[in-house]
Amino acid sequence: MKYISTRGKAPALDFEQVLLTGLASDGGLYVPEHLPRFSAQDIRDMAALDYPALAHKIIAPFVAGSIPDADLKTLIDDTYAEFRHDAVAPLVQLDSNQWVLELFHGPTLAFKDFALQLLGRLLDYVLERRHQKVVIMGATSGDTGSAAIEGCKRCKNIDIFILHPHQRVSEVQRRQMTTVVGDNIHNLAIEGNFDDCQAMVKASFADRSFLPEDRSLVAVNSINWARIMAQIVYYFYAAVALGAPERSVAFSVPTGNFGDIFAGYLAQGMGLPIERLIIATNTNDVLHRVMTTRSYDRQPLVHTLSPSMDITVSSNFERLLFDLYGRDGAAIADLMQRFDKGEIKLSDSAMARAAELFSSYRVSDEETCAQIASTWERCEYLLDPHSAIGVRAAMQTKLPAHVPVVTLATAHPAKFPDAVAKAGVEDRPGLPLHLRDLYDRPERSQVLPNDFAAVKDFMAANLSA
Ligand SMILES: *Cc1c(COP(=O)(O)O)cnc(C)c1O
Repeated sequence: MKYISTRGKAPALDFEQVLLTGLASDGGLYVPEHLPRFSAQDIRDMAALDYPALAHKIIAPFVAGSIPDADLKTLIDDTYAEFRHDAVAPLVQLDSNQWVLELFHGPTLAFKDFALQLLGRLLDYVLERRHQKVVIMGATSGDTGSAAIEGCKRCKNIDIFILHPHQRVSEVQRRQMTTVVGDNIHNLAIEGNFDDCQAMVKASFADRSFLPEDRSLVAVNSINWARIMAQIVYYFYAAVALGAPERSVAFSVPTGNFGDIFAGYLAQGMGLPIERLIIATNTNDVLHRVMTTRSYDRQPLVHTLSPSMDITVSSNFERLLFDLYGRDGAAIADLMQRFDKGEIKLSDSAMARAAELFSSYRVSDEETCAQIASTWERCEYLLDPHSAIGVRAAMQTKLPAHVPVVTLATAHPAKFPDAVAKAGVEDRPGLPLHLRDLYDRPERSQVLPNDFAAVKDFMAANLSA
């Protein structure tokens, strides 16, 4: 399988190269040159597969030529064996055609585990073969950091440095990062805000002088192709459980950087009958604005009850734009250059294509709380604020009565107890068994000033041999 850049100029790469590359050299994002297709009979046969077997079936064509099949199977089996539910991604029914796909049974209780648990193993496997070591660096305001640390903690060939704003992440989220022990794991609490952390990660990619020559720097942020690839699987899993290919299904996806929902778009392109993909946003509604007004622009960040969706720009949206503009790399390069300078308007034909599959809906903090409360009252089912946004959007979207709507439940409610309390639900969501002692575990992190030189020195001094 070959991968090409959305901006048309960077060289095509194979899977292994894409795994170790972030942005393409022309500033674009890598996408598969061709999507694998599954026939109706292939999809029918998927009903007999458990989650890891299905994951293997879906992922194999994307890594073809880079990882031998038997090794891939082991990596996938090990990944999903870490999940705490035998179904891996269980479906729960809320009413006659509303469903929730629980994607929070991984080690850190958010859907990001589906991708980052696999990514850590894929990277370590490839690095071992190349006799190479890398440094992973990331900034986090919440879920990504803990998922990345959990995903890399056993990787011999990876040192991981995760920067979070000191005293500005929730206690559960902080402890999920700082209680994971390993010589290769480094939590840096920066005396600054999330943007300061992100700026230092960017600066590190620009100035790698503090690293030994043979050590490259890898990003695990949401533009990473392997993350999106791993997320395609659960769309097939849920749709097949609900009757695909005979029946088509809609999905409502709490959306920030457009990674998760883009995986659904790819699933449809691979033959899965998806009736509609609902982009569910919070008040940071850049995607809802573009869907309803054609204008793609930046607005100031608003802090909401669903912090993992607090973004001003959705980085993976460029991957969809590439298809909406007929895979014309030059057109995308031009569009994104104009976007860097200000607002852009999407073409009528691009909008018409998008509207064939996508709907969008914006949900305020008040509506989020109202949804948590009403789902609790009607079903005694507790939604986290991100998933509540998805359910709200699903219920507001008009669809044929025979189409089931699956909301992706992206986080466990115990990660966001304050939002649940705000919604007026008196039952406190308990942490799952494997995290019950989270508040008793020793923490390890390093507080550093908001100063790039100090961060560089710390990293250089703490690399493994
Ligand atoms: C990251 C995240 C999202 C947004 O996912 P994208 O792929 O960025 O659209 C939604 N909910 C939760 C809980 C998350 O952690």
